[in-house]
Amino acid sequence: MFQDLDVRYDNAFRHDEPAEDSVALIRRGDGILAALRDGQMCLPCFGQLSPAARALNWRYAFTLGQTAYFLADAEDLSSIPDGFSVISSKDYRSMGPKEAVFAAAVSESLHRWYGANRFCGRCGKPMIDSEAERARVCPDCGLTVYPKICPAVIVAVTDGDRLLLTKYQGRAFKRHALVAGFAEIGEPIEDTVRREVFEETGLRVKNLRFYKSQPWVFTDSLLFGFRCELDGSDKVTIQQSELSEAEWYRRDEIPGDYSNISLTGEMIELFRRGQDN
Ligand SMILES: [Zn+2]
Repeated sequence: MFQDLDVRYDNAFRHDEPAEDSVALIRRGDGILAALRDGQMCLPCFGQLSPAARALNWRYAFTLGQTAYFLADAEDLSSIPDGFSVISSKDYRSMGPKEAVFAAAVSESLHRWYGANRFCGRCGKPMIDSEAERARVCPDCGLTVYPKICPAVIVAVTDGDRLLLTKYQGRAFKRHALVAGFAEIGEPIEDTVRREVFEETGLRVKNLRFYKSQPWVFTDSLLFGFRCELDGSDKVTIQQSELSEAEWYRRDEIPGDYSNISLTGEMIELFRRGQDN
């Protein structure tokens, strides 16, 4: 999965100033400034930046291994440095190295959150960064807004040697997936699993087992991967607003078209190999 790194991700909050060897996460729209070398993404160091880029509003983001990463919005930067281009999220997901892809993906979620919280949603005044934690604070009414992280489930529903695969309705992602959906307010995550499976397919499930989580920062989500077994009838009734397909596949019939950066892909692959216990 895309967040499985060989170096430690340290996201403890702090205020810091960029050093010359700090990595610069320069966001522009849904893209990030990077150089491309043999299909690999190379993020710039602070020391490589022009005076105009160094003068942007930089925020400490996180540290990977020994390297600090800083974030800036470059919507107003008039020129892109030679040798660099703006690479969109859907393009860099399939590139390497892993550290650069992960850093770009996390910065995407942070950048979206800062951009969406420039003004207070309660009184409309400009928000400021908290001194104590990663939060935006309204100095007028005191509203505090934390980074947007939406809990959601990915569910592998099995019936003996069969796995339920789905295809989403009306999305750019056309490959096979698993039942998925967001938690509702006041709902334990296990109930999210039961509700989403029933809403999308009409099936009942039992024996829920948590497998693993994944920070799916591309949609500001935190995914909880669950495995569960069919309870009762195997007759699928598709929720057509959500799914275009939901069908049972035997292990040896499972199509290998799923993503290798996602929790969904890992769970499907483990079932296909018979390693899902
Ligand atoms: Zn306010």
